[in-house]
Amino acid sequence: MAKRENEGCPRFATPTTVSPITIEHTGFVDLQVNGFAGIDFNDPGCTPDDLQRALDAIVRTGVTRCLPTLITSSLDRFTACARLIARHPSRVIAGLHMEGPYISPADGARGAHPLEHVAPASRDDFERRQEAAEGRIVLVTLAPEVPGALALIEHLSAAGIRVALGHTVAEPQQIADAVRAGATLSTHLGNGCPLTLPRHPNVIWEQLAADALVASLIVDGHHLPPSTVKVMVRAKSPERTILVTDAVAPAASPPGQYWVSGMRIELDANGRVSKPGSRMLAGSALLMPQAIGNVVRFTDLAIDRVLRMASDQPAAYIGVRPAGRVTMVWDADEHRLTVERVTQMDTNESDPQIHTDEHR
Ligand SMILES: [Zn+2]
Repeated sequence: MAKRENEGCPRFATPTTVSPITIEHTGFVDLQVNGFAGIDFNDPGCTPDDLQRALDAIVRTGVTRCLPTLITSSLDRFTACARLIARHPSRVIAGLHMEGPYISPADGARGAHPLEHVAPASRDDFERRQEAAEGRIVLVTLAPEVPGALALIEHLSAAGIRVALGHTVAEPQQIADAVRAGATLSTHLGNGCPLTLPRHPNVIWEQLAADALVASLIVDGHHLPPSTVKVMVRAKSPERTILVTDAVAPAASPPGQYWVSGMRIELDANGRVSKPGSRMLAGSALLMPQAIGNVVRFTDLAIDRVLRMASDQPAAYIGVRPAGRVTMVWDADEHRLTVERVTQMDTNESDPQIHTDEHR
């Protein structure tokens, strides 16, 4: 006998919708930004006005402090780019992130870094680059297996400069040695490594298991699949996970072709940045609020937990204070975080001193 509709049957609950809420939070801190809003920080032709325009656009996304990131390049090119950033009077710049040139020359691991400028780790070379940067390099990403890396890690960590592992094909013992020497971060874990790896051990498992290493992740949905993000955050713990954008010039810009670090790259309609005609990613067009929304979607963590992965935690990692306040609307159904307002940063507060010039 047919029942009348709903008679004696539990009703299926209609999906609950949560109205968007307003959140006020401390500003975001991005430890890896190569460029933004059409401006390439790795271009020696970048002017102070260009840099300021990019920083203004970055702040509009809620990022009130960042590390402009200079990738593998010749000393001359690095010097020109670093000097401009170091001398720019903006508190948004919390220092410089030097990614390379002491990285793996292997295809895949090297990513989009130019092979001709990949170099062994050298204290002399670093000192020249740090001098060009007027002592403002606070984070160095290197591969621990390159000659000279362990000695440089020891030197940098003794000088208070953070050392991250990245663009590497290191063996387990080399990762353990790097951690012992003072490395404390995995740069964009799961990227900057060969496209195929032995199932185990490999460079991802070893870094995931190393509790002394915090991990930075690029959560744009292109660099890491959702399941990988979920598992990495669980393995590493939310407390030891930092969100970075690894943004390049096309970020906050329309799809099309751009010149970045002397090479042509393309931003497609899905927000993927790659070399034209290739699957190789070349940075991202990710904005920090999107990264935060994606992490909630991929991991089911609460929004307030994920916000710390983009603010207090990266700030604490490099020893600075987050700055300013960001007012945002969070739509939990759509996993969409929209920045409404960024308040003025407090310019009176100084950071705890990071001793970056004792080694000079
Ligand atoms: Zn990289």
